[in-house]
Amino acid sequence: MADECLHAAGIREVVPSALGCEECLKTGSMWVHLRLCRTCGHVGSCDASPNRHATKHFHATGHPVVEGYDPPEAWGWCYIDEVVLDLGDRATAQNGPIPRYY
Ligand SMILES: [Zn+2]
Ligand SMILES: [Zn+2]
Ligand SMILES: [Zn+2]
Repeated sequence: MADECLHAAGIREVVPSALGCEECLKTGSMWVHLRLCRTCGHVGSCDASPNRHATKHFHATGHPVVEGYDPPEAWGWCYIDEVVLDLGDRATAQNGPIPRYY
């Protein structure tokens, strides 16, 4: 249950680091969806994307919570507890326009 995720309390207001996945933009790769790190603002590609940079970011940094970021749907995901979080009005506004490949 989401109630058991202690990381939700640590979610921060962040500024998205890039218009799309930081690493994919550098390498010219594509993504399917984006995930926004709610600890540092890193924007990464989702697990349906070829490079899965959001998950790699979690493994590299331990930042536990990402937000679905295209468009903001006000849900988060805790990698550690593997639970969906309802962000309500704490969703992050998009910097936009976000590049799309699908
Ligand atoms: Zn958690
Ligand atoms: Zn982060
Ligand atoms: Zn990526």
